[in-house]
Amino acid sequence: MSKQFAVIGLGRFGSSVAKELYDLHYEVMAIDINEERIQENVNVVTHCVQADSTDETALKALGIRNFDVVVVAIGQNIQASILTTILLKELGVETIVVKAQNQLHAKVLYKIGASKVVFPERDMGARVAHNLVTPNILDYIELSDEYSIVEIIASEKMNHKSLVELNIRARFGCNVMAIKNDHRINVAPDANDMIKTGDILVVIGHNKDLRKFEDFVMNGK
Ligand code: ATP
Repeated sequence: MSKQFAVIGLGRFGSSVAKELYDLHYEVMAIDINEERIQENVNVVTHCVQADSTDETALKALGIRNFDVVVVAIGQNIQASILTTILLKELGVETIVVKAQNQLHAKVLYKIGASKVVFPERDMGARVAHNLVTPNILDYIELSDEYSIVEIIASEKMNHKSLVELNIRARFGCNVMAIKNDHRINVAPDANDMIKTGDILVVIGHNKDLRKFEDFVMNGK
């Protein structure tokens, strides 16, 4: 049986997570304390329930422990987010993903047993900043404090050059994991594969090395 998800808190983030999971054909139960939010989301998830997630009896009645993953998307009310996470942990939910407001909130969430803490605004802010500085960067995923994956558009100066000619690994210490264009995605690029202007390179590396590579793509340095 495929995974079952519950999303608690249907603000912009929670409702987007819930809708996307439902569109991916997963069963999703969405919970919010606010009746209006329930009305707004009733057609985009499997079940939509009005409940206070800080109420243990309510959570039990919903059979919350039977869900594989519970996403806590209560942002502003840090107390409710922490209380909900503790209850989910106590009720035996295996995977609990929680949206945090700040580092301290995140620290508390990990201490009480959150499996993963996310910072959607911070992450999106970092992506937008990268894209502003380097318009060739389409996407940016932070893997840790030091390592990231970027999607970068190949510039004119890379046209008709192979990976071995560009010597990306040796010169910049980054690895090209995939090359995408309109027609196909090559997930195991060969050293002799030719790059064309406009191809999208998916590159993994240390942030410092990625910056050097981005500089090369943008300015030829
Ligand atoms: P976003 O940025 O995603 O729009 P936010 O970080 O501003 O959201 P809030 O608006 O504070 O977050 O909360 C998100 C949702 O969580 C709201 O719809 C709110 O009604 C719901 N919520 C808050 N407390 C509880 C609770 N105890 N039980 C269930 N839902 C709750």
